[in-house]
Amino acid sequence: MLIDKKIYEQYRPTIGIECHVQLATNTKLFSGANNDARDEVPNSVISAVDYGLPGMLPVLNKRAVELAVRAGLALNSEILLTSRFDRKHYFYPDLPKGYQISQLYHPIIGVGSIEVPLPNGESMKVRINHAHLEEDAGKLTHPNGADYSLVDLNRAGTPLIEIVSEADIHGAVEAKAFAQELYLLMTYADVTRGDLYHGNMRFDINISVAKRDAKNWGKRAEIKNLNSFRAIEKVVEYEFKRQVELLERQEVIIQETRGWDDAKQKTFSQRSKEDAQDYRYMPDPDIPPVVLTQHYVDKIRQQLPVLPQVYRSAWQALNLDESVKGALLSNKNIAQLILSVQNTAGGIIAKRIANWFASAVESSDERVINLNQEQLVDLARMVDEGELNSTAAKEIFNDIIDGSNMTAREIAENKDLLQVSNENEITRIVEEVLVDPSSAKAIADIKNGNDKAVGFLVGQIMKKSQGKANPGLAQKLIIERL
Ligand code: MN
Repeated sequence: MLIDKKIYEQYRPTIGIECHVQLATNTKLFSGANNDARDEVPNSVISAVDYGLPGMLPVLNKRAVELAVRAGLALNSEILLTSRFDRKHYFYPDLPKGYQISQLYHPIIGVGSIEVPLPNGESMKVRINHAHLEEDAGKLTHPNGADYSLVDLNRAGTPLIEIVSEADIHGAVEAKAFAQELYLLMTYADVTRGDLYHGNMRFDINISVAKRDAKNWGKRAEIKNLNSFRAIEKVVEYEFKRQVELLERQEVIIQETRGWDDAKQKTFSQRSKEDAQDYRYMPDPDIPPVVLTQHYVDKIRQQLPVLPQVYRSAWQALNLDESVKGALLSNKNIAQLILSVQNTAGGIIAKRIANWFASAVESSDERVINLNQEQLVDLARMVDEGELNSTAAKEIFNDIIDGSNMTAREIAENKDLLQVSNENEITRIVEEVLVDPSSAKAIADIKNGNDKAVGFLVGQIMKKSQGKANPGLAQKLIIERL
């Protein structure tokens, strides 16, 4: 149904996001099995605990608790000194115990809030309701055309924290920005490996729609298991339209779980939503309560890695574009390098290098590990001194990123990229250009007060010098002569 664009403007989406974060522990949440199952043969990294053999006894992984506390601190949320585990019962072939060990009543992370930067330069506050520790389930694969499914329990028992936000988000761009900020916080805090492709972070979007002036929220749909920021944005756009159109047709919105079909760019109904009582929650009798001391929490706080906001506030002095800041932060190695350059070589040099990175390097680029900071600082200084133009600098930058062992100056000399700043040499070219008949009109224009015509003459000089004349010096010499 096509409806007037104005009708959409009468409605507003209200969105809460849940995010499952796989913790980067060596072993699983309750067993000693390897926690990194990427590229492992199915069902090869599991123990009796993970597939729930009778008589097994789970033992809580200390490191998972430590990472959860660290996550809570990065989320600017309360750490609850006493938490406990519950059994959440449901039947599914990827959950052989018949229940998931989770925390419903006493989570380890309590209320908090984070400030989320938006692409327009503003920011949005999103409250955290809580975050709890729980185990991941296994994985089912459904081979094409087969009449059976395959169960792989390698992921069963992987430690997760589930972060639950309040419904403080009201748009697609905002939902994406929140997810990206969670990703930055969790990867900068070294809580997770952050491999989105392998599902290290998975997002569930709860979205309802109501008229802007309505007092109550509408019925919500939950779209589960998204692992890309782009998909989150698309899901919100799609669901907003779908729900507005249903409301406009006076149809009922069903509270349900939906999936996202990336090929069709559509959500689809999966099942009606369960309530808490359907899961028959009960305290897990095998696992004692987790009791932390304030001293323990304070120690983790002291060791907390540098978080994105530290970079952002340092970079305020550089006056970078939002998109540049985002590009730098999306690769922690680059962010660290720029901050280090800023602290040692100053803001002007740092800004120059920051802009090169932002335009040349993808977030997943592995070439930026172990870069030689001095090479880059030297390169930026050469540009500042007028020894290189920006095209030449970019070329040398790329060579450095590609692993060149030479200094910036050696690369420049080798490739004959140095600008000519020798006054005698440029004067010679300036004089050649000024006597050329094709310059007559520009010279007349300048004499009549049209300074823009200087640009034409500088262009001629650049052409004659094959791009190597220092344009600032060329301009100065032209003006002196006219
Ligand atoms: Mn969960």
